[in-house]
Amino acid sequence: MDKKRLKKYAELTVKVGANVQKGQGVIINASVDQEEFVALITEEAYRVGAKWVEVQWSSQNVTRLHQNYQTLEQLSKMPHWQEEKHKMMAEELPAMIHILSDDPDGLNGVDQEKMQKSNAARRKIVKKYRDAMENRHQWTIVAAPSKAWAKKVFPGLTCAKAKDQLWEAILQTVRVDKSNDPIEAWAEHNRNFQEKCKVLTEYDFDRLHYTSSNGTDFTVWLIPHARWIGGGETALNGVYYNPNMPTEEIFTSPMKGKAEGKLVSTKPLSYQGQLIEDFSITFEAGKAVEWEARKGEDVLGHMIQTDEGSAYLGELALVPYDSPISNAGILFYETLFDENASCHVALGRGFSMALDGFEAMTWEEATNKGINDSLIHVDFMIGSGDLSVDGYTREGKKVTVFHNGNWAL
Ligand code: ZN
Repeated sequence: MDKKRLKKYAELTVKVGANVQKGQGVIINASVDQEEFVALITEEAYRVGAKWVEVQWSSQNVTRLHQNYQTLEQLSKMPHWQEEKHKMMAEELPAMIHILSDDPDGLNGVDQEKMQKSNAARRKIVKKYRDAMENRHQWTIVAAPSKAWAKKVFPGLTCAKAKDQLWEAILQTVRVDKSNDPIEAWAEHNRNFQEKCKVLTEYDFDRLHYTSSNGTDFTVWLIPHARWIGGGETALNGVYYNPNMPTEEIFTSPMKGKAEGKLVSTKPLSYQGQLIEDFSITFEAGKAVEWEARKGEDVLGHMIQTDEGSAYLGELALVPYDSPISNAGILFYETLFDENASCHVALGRGFSMALDGFEAMTWEEATNKGINDSLIHVDFMIGSGDLSVDGYTREGKKVTVFHNGNWAL
């Protein structure tokens, strides 16, 4: 990939994604295969005045070895210094930049139950720090291709060609063209989001009803005065940032405990290195009570039963069937992209910022208002070419929100 375009992407990540501020610390999470891109991001971060930049390197091959050789008990522990680090992060509120590049199949064969249990145990140790950071700092998720991921997406091409193609697809979806100003393109993208969010929030729907010929027939109730969110967000430190690049979705968090019916998946779900395919989940009183999958049913079951909140919904997202990512016709095997190609919902933790007045609320107060709490947040796709979504206002008026997979508003 040409270096100039990569530099533009790094600049976009730092200035629009994380919007790193002068004097702020920066943490970058990246895989060891992304050294070049990480160096570009580090340089951009220092250029805009970052006080320090720390890279937390990872390797799927090493993760696999840890999982295979350590006991569950050992994997579930966290050394004291690591907990201290989370504590420091909650105090310092650094900007976080996550670079996704992992092989979607990279953890195949690893003991799923062991991995999910130990991950959940470690997340539990740092939960109070993560809750304290909620909405208070900027973070962004971007992507860069690894060889293995590129080969998964483009199996018919050589490694080098596949990687080039995946770079091209990524850069197009994040609006980094050869000649444009991506920072201006994102400003316009964000203005469009703001308009749509305003319309949806003003309807203040009581509930949404989803139907599709694939068997989806599902009703979900919304929290009164819930906000619809899309594009950039303002953290409580006053800084506007873009948590996901790319993003095409407009979303909210539903009322915990109030959803009925069946959702049928329309794309495979890659969860912790394992694929779950052709699945459906049935809800009663907001809870996933029944599920089936042609492939990966045990992974799906473990995921749904991670903790008390993981069987409840945390997100409802609307994405037109004719979105740029959807039209690219590529299955990325990566939620950051695939979720932006399709309407989706997420099981697990919700977003307190979906509440009116969230700025003054603690996480606990947000959960009391109906935001779901869980250690997981996993999106799965339900958008199709004939998906209808009807909104019912609190006065009982029906409004068509989506028709044949696209916006009707
Ligand atoms: Zn989403």
